[in-house]
Amino acid sequence: MTRLPILMYHNVSNVIDDSRGLTVFNKTLEEQFCYLVDAGYTTYHFSELENKITIEPKSVIITFDDVTENQLIYAVPLLQKYNLKATFFIPFGYIGNVDSWNSGNEKIMSIEQLKELDSRVELGLHSFEHNRYAALSEAEINADFSKCFKIIENSNLKVYNALAYPYGDYPKKEPNKSIFIKVLQKNNVKFGLRIGNRINKFPFKNPYEIMRIDIKGEDSMLKFKIKLLLGRLKLF
Ligand SMILES: [Zn+2]
Repeated sequence: MTRLPILMYHNVSNVIDDSRGLTVFNKTLEEQFCYLVDAGYTTYHFSELENKITIEPKSVIITFDDVTENQLIYAVPLLQKYNLKATFFIPFGYIGNVDSWNSGNEKIMSIEQLKELDSRVELGLHSFEHNRYAALSEAEINADFSKCFKIIENSNLKVYNALAYPYGDYPKKEPNKSIFIKVLQKNNVKFGLRIGNRINKFPFKNPYEIMRIDIKGEDSMLKFKIKLLLGRLKLF
């Protein structure tokens, strides 16, 4: 079993004063990427893990939610510069629009922008409506998947069936949890990602409860390094 931290990012900004919560300053992101390279971490796409049993001892997965245009402007060039892989999760109903489930201030990439992304970026699912799965019926979840797959088919977009749950939310209690996992399997979802802020063990014990570490704009480098090692922080 190998430790596998999965980092979760959202927005990237070139304005240091914006750096809090879901938004990370681009120079801070560069420092973090630079650290991953210097420390000898190997990055993976989820598609590479499907048939793998072992990974490098020092492994990490980098993820970005919501495919905002700021990720294209600031994160993608850094992934290229440091030759790191990452997975970007698409809320399909908002492609080419804005993040109206949130502030509505961030532009979401268009189909063309998504298609032209560097091969270091793997695309994954982040639902159509960006609703909480725990609040939806089985039929509503299936309908949401159908809308995503229709866009993928019509646009010829290459998307791997790893799914980041909007808000990290999914039914945690039985019988709803088992029903939800069956819906995911029926829709051919290979990996499901919650938040949880803990380090996973690979191979995953449960591929539908994979945990991610929330990297925040205000995190210092020390805090970043500790999160990478320990996940959830109770000391700070
Ligand atoms: Zn989201």
